[in-house]
Amino acid sequence: MPLTTDDDVKDYLAKRVIVTDDGHWLWTLSKNNWGYGHCNRTTNPYLETLAHRLAWRVYVGEIEHELDHLCRVKHCINPEHCEDTTHRTNMHRAPHILQQLQRTHCPREHEYTNENTYYQKNDPGRRRCRECNRLRASRNRSNRRK
Ligand SMILES: [Zn+2]
Ligand SMILES: [Zn+2]
Repeated sequence: MPLTTDDDVKDYLAKRVIVTDDGHWLWTLSKNNWGYGHCNRTTNPYLETLAHRLAWRVYVGEIEHELDHLCRVKHCINPEHCEDTTHRTNMHRAPHILQQLQRTHCPREHEYTNENTYYQKNDPGRRRCRECNRLRASRNRSNRRK
């Protein structure tokens, strides 16, 4: 099925990555000769053949130069792990990505440490807080007991 909207593409990408504990989105389909995740250009509206570029287009926007992997994992497609090399700073990232990167605590003020952060496969762009998850789970349990 051809992908037409950004949401289609996000869905397509989310189903084809393995999200690791440290937040890499590892591409599970084929890789090109250089080790980058490869996607079929005819099935996406941006005509990209590289999965990390496609992820950047739908999550961040235009690519002004070349994308560089900050995390050094070539088949990782997490846009938070890439930067557009014309800009050595994060200044030109989309505001919502920038906000995510700058946020050090969850809405309930638990710190986003490596241990406390996890990502969900169907929404890997969002950091989640384990502590909140635990609280939610115990609240559900006590509700059920009543
Ligand atoms: Zn990565
Ligand atoms: Zn929390």
